Amino acid sequence: NKRISVLSVPIDCVTMDEAVQRILQLTEQPGLHLVATANAEMVMLANENPTLHTILNDASLVVPDGAGILWAAERQGEHVPERVTGVDVTKELFKVAATHHIPVYCLGAAPGVAQRAVDNLAAQVGELNIAGIHDGFFDSAEEQEIIDTIGESKAKLVFVALGVPKQEQWIAEKLSHLDGVVAIGIGGSFDVLAG
Ligand code: UDP
Repeated sequence: NKRISVLSVPIDCVTMDEAVQRILQLTEQPGLHLVATANAEMVMLANENPTLHTILNDASLVVPDGAGILWAAERQGEHVPERVTGVDVTKELFKVAATHHIPVYCLGAAPGVAQRAVDNLAAQVGELNIAGIHDGFFDSAEEQEIIDTIGESKAKLVFVALGVPKQEQWIAEKLSHLDGVVAIGIGGSFDVLAG
């Protein structure tokens, strides 16, 4: 798939279906794969935050989340087929995770929120293989437990909802030792999916 640049931030021109297929492939490839969902705010922030910028340049996949990204791409004469939002990609990935029994770890949002989101999703997609769930407000001892659990549970998809850029930095710093794992920053998606 074509990778374009919006204000020097990479954007992959993928549809939702292509993003989901690519993410599934990445779970079978060595290393930790970071997936980012880009909107205008993230692009602006990356231009002020070199750490975030580097992380996005190194990301395995940067999906076009915001309408502003599609607009900016059109202005450059590029075509991004559709929005691939954090909420929608989370729903789609849970669907395939249920079908293929892929273990999933959910990190972030206020206590109870991710669990409610998972319960709502399970009602739609069927039984899920949940490797673990933790809220996004933890101390360093809990953090180590979270990291250990993600590794030991053999989670293949890790959803991280700590807000931008905390979630991207957390994934890059704390999960880089994992192998055949996709970690995706999903911002406020658990709040939305918890209904
Ligand atoms: N959050 C968290 N831990 C933190 C800070 C934020 O779990 O230390 C969660 C917060 O509860 C919310 C999400 O991160 O669920 C951030 O949502 P927001 O819509 O602000 O995300 P962004 O706009 O940054 O993508």
